[in-house]
Amino acid sequence: MHTASAKTVLIVEDEIALADVLEEYLRASSFAVDRLADGEAVVAHVRAHPPDLMLLDLMLPGRDGLDICRELRGFTTLPIIMITARVEEIDRLLGLELGADDYVCKPFAPREVVARVKAQLRRVDMLTHPRQEMQQQTLYLDSDRYEARMDGQALRLTAVEFRLLDTLCRHPGHIFSRTRLIEHLYDDHRIVTERTVDTHVKNLRKKLAAAFAGRQFIESVYGVGYRFEPA
Ligand code: CA
Repeated sequence: MHTASAKTVLIVEDEIALADVLEEYLRASSFAVDRLADGEAVVAHVRAHPPDLMLLDLMLPGRDGLDICRELRGFTTLPIIMITARVEEIDRLLGLELGADDYVCKPFAPREVVARVKAQLRRVDMLTHPRQEMQQQTLYLDSDRYEARMDGQALRLTAVEFRLLDTLCRHPGHIFSRTRLIEHLYDDHRIVTERTVDTHVKNLRKKLAAAFAGRQFIESVYGVGYRFEPA
């Protein structure tokens, strides 16, 4: 039985013990839970009983998570957290532009997954009900001067910082891996470590926070990469 106010999380996972643990933790955090163990049934289930969020295992009997995610994105923006068995897989998945909102890798701490679920739902809530004072504000990027501006405030960026911000904010909410960002940041194909990207992000965030009253536009997605959050 689902109570009217509880948010529903759909767990699609064929490892029953794992799904049990996730369900237990989610219910303890007052979520309603639906479960499926077979990939074949997912799309029809989502159409008939749209959940508020979905945890989607990549390797499933019947139909794999990639394929399911692609089809779902044709008709719904519901937050999808993809569960993978290998951390190296994540970069490949990001490259496929599936439109998943976050990724967790097995083995995971259930508590961590619940935290990610809550973070995604908060995100959706903020996008659907932006705070009043944020609605009028738009970030302008001036590519001639490598300058970002909002409400008359401007900040000077290095060329790399500007490209970084430009890349991220062209696709709000989209997760970019460090590897993908490197491709966008340097046109001379130089060898750059992922650590370098982190340093540029850190500096860019510092400038943004200083200019825009501590607002954080760039969210780091743990173990995955970065994304731009407009609100
Ligand atoms: Ca599986």
